[in-house]
Amino acid sequence: MNDRIAELSERFNDDQDLQLICECATEGCTERLEVPLDEYARVRRCPDWFLITPGHIFSDAEHVIEHHDGYDIVKTWS
Ligand SMILES: [Zn+2]
Repeated sequence: MNDRIAELSERFNDDQDLQLICECATEGCTERLEVPLDEYARVRRCPDWFLITPGHIFSDAEHVIEHHDGYDIVKTWS
């Protein structure tokens, strides 16, 4: 995983957004998110953090820890 982040860092400028697919609990969700690379790297360091489209929270399993313009960061309860 860390190798992958390093690889991404070489290919993208820090101020460029990544195009991601929503990581919410809905199977087959294909909502797209634009997330700054440094934000993506920060979330990926935490195995129980995920990036989702605002409103895609599955509150039985996770809670929003940060709201951002265009995406939310959620953390699982466990
Ligand atoms: Zn979603």
